[in-house]
Amino acid sequence: MVIDDQTCMVEFALRTMSFYAHESCGWCIPCREGTDWLKKTLTRFHAGFGTRSDIDNIQYLAENMLGRTFCPLGDAAAMPTIAFVKKFRKEFEDHLNGMPCPFAREGVPQLTVV
Ligand code: SF4
Repeated sequence: MVIDDQTCMVEFALRTMSFYAHESCGWCIPCREGTDWLKKTLTRFHAGFGTRSDIDNIQYLAENMLGRTFCPLGDAAAMPTIAFVKKFRKEFEDHLNGMPCPFAREGVPQLTVV
């Protein structure tokens, strides 16, 4: 997957987690609760209502999903989330100013997650 430097990685993390939360069959708790909790937290965070502790909590939760689910979907949701926070922490911190996504551009629709 190729992603340019104009892409908000918090939004990309949210899009990714929305997919996994939708696909989770709900059989095991770390996947069912973890993907839903991460989706809700990333939604709030991307909207500009995140806190600094959310960043560590997102990583902590994803790390605790890893290896604790019945099928690979839980790991598949956790691994990119851990990488998003580790490699793009600055972009997460840029969302802490109480404003909407700093990557928002005119003409580019903002993510709507249902
Ligand atoms: S890890 Fe697999 S089995 Fe467990 S809830 Fe997720 S999709 Fe279902």
